[in-house]
Amino acid sequence: MVTQQIMRRGVVTPRVIEAFKKVPRHLFVPEQFQSHSYNDHPLPIGEGQTISQPYIVALMTDLLNLSGEDKVLEIGTGSGYQAAILAELGKEVYTIERHKLLAERAEKIFKELNYQNVKVLVGDGTKGWKEFSPYQKIIVTASAPDVPQPLFIQLDEMGKLVIPIGGRWSQDLTLIEKRKGKMIRKSVCGCVFVPLIGEYGYRDTD
Ligand code: SAM
Repeated sequence: MVTQQIMRRGVVTPRVIEAFKKVPRHLFVPEQFQSHSYNDHPLPIGEGQTISQPYIVALMTDLLNLSGEDKVLEIGTGSGYQAAILAELGKEVYTIERHKLLAERAEKIFKELNYQNVKVLVGDGTKGWKEFSPYQKIIVTASAPDVPQPLFIQLDEMGKLVIPIGGRWSQDLTLIEKRKGKMIRKSVCGCVFVPLIGEYGYRDTD
């Protein structure tokens, strides 16, 4: 997975590669799909949600340019795999999931793997997690119509935020930077994510 899918497509940052070699992706995948854990595609994780394709997890991680001092906010815990990768690379990880069942399952795996720097919240991640803000890095792993305003407010000056922005069926993976309070946007590539459902995302009925 690391050589063929991630490095060959251009994600070669040594710290990022080490994290992907270390985190056991199959433990985050439901048992019936575990034999496909390292394949080049997303997989179902229950509640109609998915664990993203390994390469897209790697690309989004790489775009954040994480340092060991970063406080990171993730919206969309899902399986917990992306959060575990972030926990290898940042200092503290705060991750929010709207489905209680997924959040609980991920939290159990974090405990089993002894990740002590990850905190999980069940709720609407479009509002962020003000208590621990500002965050040097924010990653949104579901697609939004635009950047949820609370997330930009909770992003630190010079911080980076990665988010898929666009319509329900296709989006642009977008890198946002905060410079002197202003939003600088860079479109990275096309992508397809499940929707971000919440007050500053899509409504459940959209
Ligand atoms: N990062 C995950 C992983 O490593 O498995 C993959 C996330 S999956 C593509 C997107 C997740 O975002 C789903 O689990 C979904 O329930 C969650 N989600 C959607 N809207 C949300 C919201 N407003 N707040 C928190 N989580 C949300």
